[in-house]
Amino acid sequence: MKLLVTGGAGFIGSNFILYMLRRYPGYRIVNYDLLTYAGNPDNLTGVRAHQGYSFVQGDIADEGRVEEIFSGGLDAVVHFAAESHVDRSVKDPGVFVRTNVNGTQVLLEAARKHGVSRFVHVSTDEVYGSLGDTGLFTEETPLAPNSPYSASKAGSDLLVRAYVETFGLPAVITRCSNNYGPYQFPEKLIPLMISRAVKGEPLPVYGDGLNVRDWLYVEDHCSAIDLVLHGGRPGEVYNVGGNNERTNLQIVRTILEELGRPESLITFVEDRPGHDRRYGIDASKIRNELGWSPAYPFERGIRETIGWYRSHPEWLERIVSGAYRDDGSSRHGEE
Ligand code: NAD
Repeated sequence: MKLLVTGGAGFIGSNFILYMLRRYPGYRIVNYDLLTYAGNPDNLTGVRAHQGYSFVQGDIADEGRVEEIFSGGLDAVVHFAAESHVDRSVKDPGVFVRTNVNGTQVLLEAARKHGVSRFVHVSTDEVYGSLGDTGLFTEETPLAPNSPYSASKAGSDLLVRAYVETFGLPAVITRCSNNYGPYQFPEKLIPLMISRAVKGEPLPVYGDGLNVRDWLYVEDHCSAIDLVLHGGRPGEVYNVGGNNERTNLQIVRTILEELGRPESLITFVEDRPGHDRRYGIDASKIRNELGWSPAYPFERGIRETIGWYRSHPEWLERIVSGAYRDDGSSRHGEE
């Protein structure tokens, strides 16, 4: 199997490449990534020497570069590349449309033209909008995105649907809840709070801290994508979630407790505009159809995650200092 992974230098993409090459050492994986601020070649140190792994730096919205990649022959695509941070989408929505919508269309077009046998589009539960106190998102929940980020992801989901319906592209969509684990850029809630708590700095919590997210350990997301890649039905959507809803405040308190830091570090800050109140996922379809289930109970996942950030201070330090970008692509052995 020769697989194109887009955005493989980011948080979930890099975990996915490490997972796949561990599980299928004979696979060939081409990692195509622009290396924006969120792309970190350090995440892939473990596979750089693997003979099945190669890296190409490029933009998914660049038709010429994408055509070159597909001309090399590919069996399947797993598409992670995206602008992914909601706060950034509030400040600068344009780049989210360019990458998430236009970039996805460029990939779909190339996949159609070259007849790839599977296209997995990695999307998010945020496309469904916000839930009240009860109920869960199913695959039939209407799309109602509230942020420029989620709107751009919903736009890309609809393009994938159109390529299935119009051109018969064998594409599948996954919509996963919030991920946590190693290699997550420290602008996101869990690594941000861990890195600040370790240093004894104040932990900024939006609004009343009672926004609810359904947290899933990143490796469990990888195993779900693996199953969808190999067994998902073309044209279908699969929700992926940990059945593990927590308020942001609960997450922050767990981190403080694990690190032996006082709750007085919690500082409430003005809420994010359009902040969705609650996400919750019904993952029964992927469980029943593909036999997926998460392996990491939250207590284990969060303990291992905190342990990972504590034992990799140099990974965090190279992000804070900017060194991960200065020498990234050359050390990464770019093709
Ligand atoms: P990330 O921001 O950590 O990584 C994104 C990667 O995409 C980076 O390596 C970046 O360099 C690359 N990229 C950005 N623009 C690009 C472009 N124009 N061309 C090529 N590469 C580009 O994101 P993540 O958290 O790993 O999320 C990966 C995917 O999973 C996204 O599509 C996201 O919407 C989805 N998702 C994320 C979560 C989550 O909790 N993080 C949950 C569900 C779904």
